[in-house]
Amino acid sequence: MKTIDFYNFSGKRALVRVDFNVPLDDQFNITDDNRMQGAVPTIQKILKDGGSVVLMSHLGRPKGGVENKYSLKHLIDHLSFLINIQVQFADDCISPETLKKSKELKPGEVLLVENLRFYKEEEKGDIAFAQKLALLGDVYVNDAFGTAHREHASTAVIARFFPQAKYFGYLMASELKNAEKVLNNPEKPFTAIMGGAKVSDKIELIEQLLNKVDNLIIGGGMAYTFAKAQGGSIGKSLVEEDKIVLAIDLIKKAKDKGVNLILPVDSIIADAFSANAKTAVSANDKIKDDWMGLDIGPETIEIFRKVVLGSKTLLWNGPMGVFEMEKFETGTRSIAEAVVEATKKGAFSLIGGGDSAAAVSKFGFNEDVSYVSTGGGALLEYMEGKELPGVKAINE
Ligand code: AMP
Repeated sequence: MKTIDFYNFSGKRALVRVDFNVPLDDQFNITDDNRMQGAVPTIQKILKDGGSVVLMSHLGRPKGGVENKYSLKHLIDHLSFLINIQVQFADDCISPETLKKSKELKPGEVLLVENLRFYKEEEKGDIAFAQKLALLGDVYVNDAFGTAHREHASTAVIARFFPQAKYFGYLMASELKNAEKVLNNPEKPFTAIMGGAKVSDKIELIEQLLNKVDNLIIGGGMAYTFAKAQGGSIGKSLVEEDKIVLAIDLIKKAKDKGVNLILPVDSIIADAFSANAKTAVSANDKIKDDWMGLDIGPETIEIFRKVVLGSKTLLWNGPMGVFEMEKFETGTRSIAEAVVEATKKGAFSLIGGGDSAAAVSKFGFNEDVSYVSTGGGALLEYMEGKELPGVKAINE
């Protein structure tokens, strides 16, 4: 793999695409800095070599113009703290002033440029825009795994302007190594735990995993489409009617391939989608008409736990319930605890980004699992067997 270990950055300006798309609260405090921390080793290696660093990222989903709430300036202080250097800032990406700032950087200095998505050219993969960005560095480094599945100007297109000087950062390299290990070399038994709201987002992954795993646990909102497919009454629980046939097909495929597909047997049901709702425990196939399942139930937790504890490789993507609300977090917390316990016993556990990473972080288990990915969509696509444009652009 072409990592930055193969390059000496002495006297060079490294243009590094990072993924600083972190959640911010109303006061612009960073509520989870995992992705920023992930980029620190790459920045430090370049500075230690005697190079300077120009960092570029997107943040949120601006509509193609400047929006204060998505400005990367909110990240300057925390980034300066993380790398112990006062970070300089440029309030756009491609102006002559910004180019000048990048050229004036001395070894050991770091410049952060404004949100790439303030330019609509970024997401369009505009070549002229990528060419202008490329002027900001002598060498290009991609450390943004979270956006590696996008063919954007800064993540993929730009690489063509650095045919001899493009590298993977350390975060990108370890993300790929960990994903690869689970996908191609898992120690058995291999169990995938799928959850979250929708089956439709994860169909391709589930199909792909059926060729790899010994056990497939399905919980969260997506489990009710399977429950309905099996003829159960699910009340007002989340369901994708147009995916019921598919659910039947997946159940059959699992059987044909000898995969142990494990679905919930009971749920914590609620009379409303609310933190203050009335709750009860119900069999998964007998949920009352006006009620909805918002978490897996106690019997299900025990069943899932046993399977997790008997596994040597674990891949977890998607919460078991509406873990954002205290009344419905027990299922996700219990499965997280089981994953931690299995990891202590020697299993390898990979937590897919997005909501599963948020849950593990909420419960304080980041250090107790093998690897928490910073990529949601990117990890899913990689696991589906797709070539990520951000990875391809460095490799070709
Ligand atoms: P996803 O982005 O597909 O991984 O879905 C994550 C979201 O699914 C979280 O915000 C959870 O609150 C939500 N979720 C999990 N279980 C349920 C459920 N039983 N009903 C409704 N939403 C759920």
